[in-house]
Amino acid sequence: MPSFYIEQFGCRATQADGAALERQLRDRGCVAATSVFAADIIIINTCTVTSAADSQARDSIRKIHSQNPSASVIVTGCYAQRAPEELAALPGVSCVIGNSHKAQIPEVIHSLRLPGTSKISDFVPAAALNSAPLSLASAPAKIITGDIFEQTSLLAAPVFGGEGHHTRPVLKIQDGCNSRCSYCVIPFVRGKSRSLPPESIIEEVQRLSDAGYREIVLSGINLGAYGRDFSVRGEFIDLLRRVLDETSIDHLRISSIEPLDVTQDLVALFVSTDRIAQHFHMPLQSGSDRILAAMHRWYRAEHYARRVELIREHLPHAAIGADVIAGFPGETQADHDATLAFVDRLPFTYLHVFSFSTRPGTRAATLPAQVPASIIKQRSRELRAFAETKAAAFRRSQIGRTLRVLTLRPDKEPPNTSPALSTNYVKVRVPGAWIPNVQLEVSILREESNFLVGEPTASPPH
Ligand code: SF4
Repeated sequence: MPSFYIEQFGCRATQADGAALERQLRDRGCVAATSVFAADIIIINTCTVTSAADSQARDSIRKIHSQNPSASVIVTGCYAQRAPEELAALPGVSCVIGNSHKAQIPEVIHSLRLPGTSKISDFVPAAALNSAPLSLASAPAKIITGDIFEQTSLLAAPVFGGEGHHTRPVLKIQDGCNSRCSYCVIPFVRGKSRSLPPESIIEEVQRLSDAGYREIVLSGINLGAYGRDFSVRGEFIDLLRRVLDETSIDHLRISSIEPLDVTQDLVALFVSTDRIAQHFHMPLQSGSDRILAAMHRWYRAEHYARRVELIREHLPHAAIGADVIAGFPGETQADHDATLAFVDRLPFTYLHVFSFSTRPGTRAATLPAQVPASIIKQRSRELRAFAETKAAAFRRSQIGRTLRVLTLRPDKEPPNTSPALSTNYVKVRVPGAWIPNVQLEVSILREESNFLVGEPTASPPH
């Protein structure tokens, strides 16, 4: 069977697709190559959330083709769904398969390698195919995409790797989105919201717990929408309760959740157990109601503020993080100042700041008063500086407290210490060479650059 290599780009959702593809290909006897040089088939799993992501993918395709010209290159992912022709035109690309048909990549590869076996059209609707059977070598790149909103399957497998995730696997449980934020291309490349059945999640979480993982990060495109696509509507909070009741996992972390999905009940659940990380990541995007309206976000600054206050009231030391976009079309200095004032007023513990990037096909791409790149840069810089002061203040507020942390994969600096991550999402260093995946109670002594230094008091009972 052929060897394959998957080049990953983008968010956890796309990486989970890649992990699922890898699992499927291995199950079919395909061999995972250790590098692009050694692979017969290279799958490039693209992202298109910003124009920078697009150009990274194009550069990577060119580079990979020059590194291994004999390999068959299949380009998939969000960029392939949004603009397949752009990718099909690049040198060395054999096939462009959109997210709409991503789940069929194993069959495509399978059918390629078994002489006389069924033509590819057995697997892909004729409409999406030229009639001729697919031979990747010489033919111009084939494009296999369809209507993403007809997509019902959800590709998911635990993602290991990437910052701290060797120890804390990420499990995608929801994909797609039914919202239409005016700057966002995601619904048009990942389709409507759909959820993994609770039984599959419980099985996967227990499998990871049995394998010794102590923390699992639950992720999705719009996690709070989990279960709403079921014939009998489910709720994210009910899934969390089932995972806590029916698995032995020590610690769950919620990757992100939309602000209006943070309810009193959800906060109460977080308060009621030490098996869910005290960490809320809620996209904000702007502190200006005028801009939130133009973004088609379905809340206003005060609604968001009330969620933050609710969390702070019941979880005084929880991490509260937010995504913020700088330079949305029409954003004035006053709007930007409103965002800075809003961030300053609320107890955020970190921010992820994004510079607005025009995405073809989105409403925001055609809005007037696009903000000049130099202004966007300036505002992003200001927001990032603000974010660092908030993060530093939060770190210092933890000195003298005892935090529960999980040791992570060892690194070299500073020597004779080990990295760890606290339940409330602070990087902590503990003295000594600890193996990864150990939960510790750590007394926080001081801050050093962007992390805290602590002394283990004792390992938790379980
Ligand atoms: S909630 Fe909005 S920003 Fe998030 S994926 Fe959906 S459309 Fe995009």
